[in-house]
This record gives sequence, structure tokens and C-alpha cells, in this order.
Amino acid sequence: MKQKQNLDTWVLASHNKGKIKELDDILAARGLDLKSAADINLVEPEETESTFEGNAALKSEAACAATQLICLADDSGLSVDALDGDPGIYSARWAGEPRDFNRAMARVHDALEARQASNRTARFVCVIAVSAPGEDTRVYRGEVEGEIVWPPRGEGGFGYDAIFQPLGHDRTFAQMSSDEKKSMSHRGRALEAMIAAEFDA
Ligand code: IMP
Repeated sequence: MKQKQNLDTWVLASHNKGKIKELDDILAARGLDLKSAADINLVEPEETESTFEGNAALKSEAACAATQLICLADDSGLSVDALDGDPGIYSARWAGEPRDFNRAMARVHDALEARQASNRTARFVCVIAVSAPGEDTRVYRGEVEGEIVWPPRGEGGFGYDAIFQPLGHDRTFAQMSSDEKKSMSHRGRALEAMIAAEFDA
């Protein structure tokens, strides 16, 4: 763990500015310095595993091997029950190249219609992996349950937010402020679990 290793620089193996800022705020409050993949010219490996855990660990372990620092990586996505968990680990890839999440959301809707699915339950999943030199990789999972709505609603957020309405709410993630979304999101929950185990245990 961090205290044992006395390392005060952590690396987030990601180029996503939103993720970097969110984690930097948390680690800075604990006196830790966060570097991103871009800061140290890390190349992100291809996501070749078949689970969120596998892909997150693949990224954190590659970064740790390259830097010998404590490295974190996350993998996340939308899992729709009536689509047997799709798009799942392929959530980003469903948006094609260049990324177009209007197309990805329409693809989810079309797939549900094609199956005449009445069950619209879904969840966002986020797994954070932490790799430290000489230690086994640790993984932390956060989930938020909800349902797929159509048509998309709201202008905020990103990705599939406009078609995901969390359980017990009547607005999609794209209709919420970022603080409200963070208070219940899969990424917020995975981060909480990671912080509790890595720092507060
Ligand atoms: P990655 O974890 O960066 O590989 O991204 C996975 C993909 O899942 C993203 O490109 C988004 O499409 C989707 N995703 C993950 N988290 C969220 C979220 O909070 N809202 C909307 N889409 C998300």
C-alpha cells in the first residue's frame, strides 16, 4: 500500500482529462502527486481482455511495469440485461471511429427494438485497478442500476448518459449536474471503494 511503499507519486494510466481531474482532486487532498499517461508518455495497451477487471488490470500493470510507480487504470461501460450485457466492455467501440455516441445510443435502442425487449434494466460498471511494484494488482468495482430510456434526454454528461436513468430517479444522467451524477455513479462508487481500501483501511 502507499504508506508502506512511501511513494508519493501515483500514475493514472489514462488520457481522459475528466478522469484525471477527478482523481487529482482526491489524491491532492492526501498530499499525493498524480501523473497522467500524457505526462509521462505512456502508451495505453489494447484492451484485449474479456472483463472490465481484466482490461483495467492490463492497463495498470503495463503502466506499473513501465514506471515502477503505483499506477491506476479504470475500465467502464454500460451493461444492458436484455442485450446479454452488451455493449459492456465494448461500450466505447460501439460508438465507432470517429466516436459518435448518438450512433452508439441508437444502436442500443435498435438492438432492444429488434429483440422486442420489454425489460429495459441496465447498469453502468466501473472497475479501478491499482498496481504497485512487487504487489498483486487490486481491483475495485462500482455499479449503478437503472434503465434505458428513449429518446435520449439531457445535454450534460457524455457517452450513454442521455439514455440512462438511474433507479429511483426520473431524470437521466445527462439531465443531472456533474456533482449529482458523481454522488451515485459507478465511477464515484469504485473510487470510494478504492480510497477506503488503499488509504483508510
Ligand atoms: P473506458 O472505460 O474509457 O474504456 O470507456 C468506456 C465507455 O463506456 C465510454 O466511452 C462511455 O461510452 C461508456 N461510459 C463509461 N462510463 C460512462 C458514464 O458515466 N456515462 C456514460 N457513458 C459511460
